[in-house]
Amino acid sequence: MNAGRFAPSPSGDLHIGNLRTAVLAWLFARSTGRDFLIRMEDLDGRTRPGSAERQLADLAAIGLDWEQPVVVQSGRRDVYRTVVDSLVADGATFECFCTRREIQEAPTAPHAPPGAYPGTCRELTTRQREERREQRPAAIRLRAETSEFTVHDVLHGDYTGDVDDVVLVRGDGTPAYNLAVVVDDHAAGIDQVVRGDDLLSSAPRQAYLATRLGYTPPLYAHVPMVLNADGVRLSKRDGAVTLEDLQGVGAGPDAVVGMIAESLRMSGTTAADLLPRFDPAALPREPWIFTPPPAGDAHRP
Ligand code: GLU
Repeated sequence: MNAGRFAPSPSGDLHIGNLRTAVLAWLFARSTGRDFLIRMEDLDGRTRPGSAERQLADLAAIGLDWEQPVVVQSGRRDVYRTVVDSLVADGATFECFCTRREIQEAPTAPHAPPGAYPGTCRELTTRQREERREQRPAAIRLRAETSEFTVHDVLHGDYTGDVDDVVLVRGDGTPAYNLAVVVDDHAAGIDQVVRGDDLLSSAPRQAYLATRLGYTPPLYAHVPMVLNADGVRLSKRDGAVTLEDLQGVGAGPDAVVGMIAESLRMSGTTAADLLPRFDPAALPREPWIFTPPPAGDAHRP
């Protein structure tokens, strides 16, 4: 099965930028005959009760449809564990005891990219590891065998980015985002990943991890973000940005799809209107500047 997907974090209502990315992911999938799947990325502890249901209702309200089931990452911990266990058994990982601060302060190798893991715990002896385990629980990192990797992106062409010893499991036992994304995309037959271009620089390390697991990396399309009038990434503080807020100031789902369509240089009031004319080559490559109307009183409790 070939599929595309939208993978929100259920940490609050989607804003018009998230909705626009979802519309694009749906258009890319449906226009290429793919299934469209939704995955709730709820591993990072920012989940709000009821948020996933409201996000799904909003996606349906703007005319998107998707295949079942909706995957929820917190229900898949056993799957991530099995994958990590196989990497550990292959000697493809190491235990890391560094704090974020130790990583920032460690001297880096001469050509290492900024922020890259400096390799501190790569070659610890058994004895050193035993000592450190007494102090704090280990994270598990991939033992990367390259420092860069190239992915193919429909909008960015061949994109080469940094790869380091990516964290697979955090010290507290939580599967890391980069691991979960790669495992889940593969398990669901997702071979097309459309998402905001804030994640472009993560794609090479995720695609590299995919190859280490024997998976074929997906085709990517990292789409421009939505910014406010100050050129800063749109957020809920900017005014009426969620479907409910916008409805409260007189812009119902049709009008919101209309605004999204216009931002994509298309026209229509439902996602289905956009499908026959969707052409990735004609998409704007620059961010969409959205100036939200002031929020009304229609806030959700
Ligand atoms: N859950 C991520 C987010 O909401 C998206 C991850 C992805 O699309 O790979 O930003």
